[in-house]
Amino acid sequence: MHQRIPRSLRFRFFVALGGLLLCAIASLAAISAWLIFPTLQAEERATVKRELDRVERSFKLDQQQLHAQVRDWAHWDDTYQFIRGDYPRYADVNFSQEMFEDMRYQFMAFFTSSGEVHFLAGINPETGSYQTCRATIGDCSWMTPWVNSMQAAIEDNRTDQISIYANHPPAIVASSPVLRTDKRGVSPGWLFKTRTLNSEWLSFMEVYTGLPISLSLSHESAPLSDSFSFSGNTVVAERYFPVSGSPTPMSLSIGIELNRTSYLTSLTTFRYVLLWTAGLMIMVIALVLLLLEKIVLKPLRLLTQFTQQVGTDGTDTYGLTKRNDEIGLLSRTFQEQFACQQQLNAELLKLSTHDALTGLPNRRLFDQRLETAFAEAVLAPNALAVMMLDIDHFKLYNDHYGHQCGDECLQQVAGAFNSIATAFNFLIARTGGEEFSAILPGVSPESAKEIGEQLTQAIDHLQLPHATSPVKPYVTVSVGIAMLKDSKSPSASAVMSAADQALYLAKAAGRHQVVLFKPPLANTTFSAHNTPL
Ligand code: GH3
Ligand code: MG
Ligand code: MG
Repeated sequence: MHQRIPRSLRFRFFVALGGLLLCAIASLAAISAWLIFPTLQAEERATVKRELDRVERSFKLDQQQLHAQVRDWAHWDDTYQFIRGDYPRYADVNFSQEMFEDMRYQFMAFFTSSGEVHFLAGINPETGSYQTCRATIGDCSWMTPWVNSMQAAIEDNRTDQISIYANHPPAIVASSPVLRTDKRGVSPGWLFKTRTLNSEWLSFMEVYTGLPISLSLSHESAPLSDSFSFSGNTVVAERYFPVSGSPTPMSLSIGIELNRTSYLTSLTTFRYVLLWTAGLMIMVIALVLLLLEKIVLKPLRLLTQFTQQVGTDGTDTYGLTKRNDEIGLLSRTFQEQFACQQQLNAELLKLSTHDALTGLPNRRLFDQRLETAFAEAVLAPNALAVMMLDIDHFKLYNDHYGHQCGDECLQQVAGAFNSIATAFNFLIARTGGEEFSAILPGVSPESAKEIGEQLTQAIDHLQLPHATSPVKPYVTVSVGIAMLKDSKSPSASAVMSAADQALYLAKAAGRHQVVLFKPPLANTTFSAHNTPL
């Protein structure tokens, strides 16, 4: 018998563990979205920034070296004399195309203290030819934008510094006032040197930093923060530097391109970990549910079935009582409790249907059985005899021997009656103080009388002394018998009443005898077939 339980333990476990799983997965997702992924991204940006810092340091170092070289040249007596016009062979002695190429100089300019061009030398970026001039004319006209920017710097007093010029191509420019080697006296002019940020410079920087580097000029002022652009497996990061000497704001950006292998590998690894963790959680919860079902829920269901079964046929189909666990203990306890309960019930039933003194069925059971026997006899139809038995002069017995002895006498009489009833398979009950009644289905009047005789004889044989009895010196009984067919109406009480009348007659006729009720001839009696025993 399977009952559907709306909020079963299985359902509750399923909901609770399912909820737990959902919470755990939601927590994992939240931790990933708000903690792990942003941390990975920040770490990637920090790595890229460190690379940009490295490139910037290399760039600044190159600028500082150029500035140091310019100062070295500018603070030199030979240069001092040259700019004052006292050393005409200075240019021939110190300048050459090889020197420019070795030092990666593009252009070198000497200006007088009034900002006039004194001497110019450089490699034409278009033609690659080395030229020296006193003015930006002829072959040296390519020098014009550089000279203009430098003269503007002198005018703005932006000398003895390092700058980025946006001329085409862009370049780093270092300048210094010319002084004697011991730095005494007034400066007679300025020295400028440029190093172009061309493809050779990029190659040099790439070798130096080990990173692919790109440069670009923009007509906007330099943003303060770096820019990052991520696409697929690569990230391009740019850092901006201000450009000087331009009428409109300009900036130079140095960009590096890095591959994101490390970040993407971390990401993939983390995603795997995430998926495995979620998968593992689902598996663990499924396993827990499975184990719960197997270890707890199923045995519990069986236990429920067992308790129902024990209540009906008492069997242990699933062998639960043989288990060595709590279910087994519970089953055994239940079985014992149930057996105890059944025994108590049986005892209670016996107490409610049997007489405590003699152990014979009592009036309640007698009445029930009489109703049943009566109904069966009418339905069959069949013969039915009832008998009433009464101890003669029992009051006198009690008076003489005492109530205690009276009880013992009652027990002995009942025992004798019960032996005969068992032998002839009929029911005899104690229906009053010293009165007994019997039901004899399917018995003929003769047989009933015969049984009545046997019952009186059984008491006679007991030879229980009854000194005050006027009948015999021992205990005797009188018996009244009535047949169903002889009763006035078809009812159990009518036939009992007839038996009572017969008993009355037996008492009246001197006791210690059996009387069969005989209906008066004029009376109409109830008819039923009479089947002999
Ligand atoms: P009769 O021959 O007419 O049947 O006379 P009797 O004295 O047997 O009948 P009566 O009805 O006058 O008295 C019955 C007595 O049975 C009275 C009572 O003290 C006694 N009695 C009834 N129940 C018990 C019992 O349980 N134990 C004992 N000891 N006596 C009982
Ligand atoms: Mg009586
Ligand atoms: Mg009596």
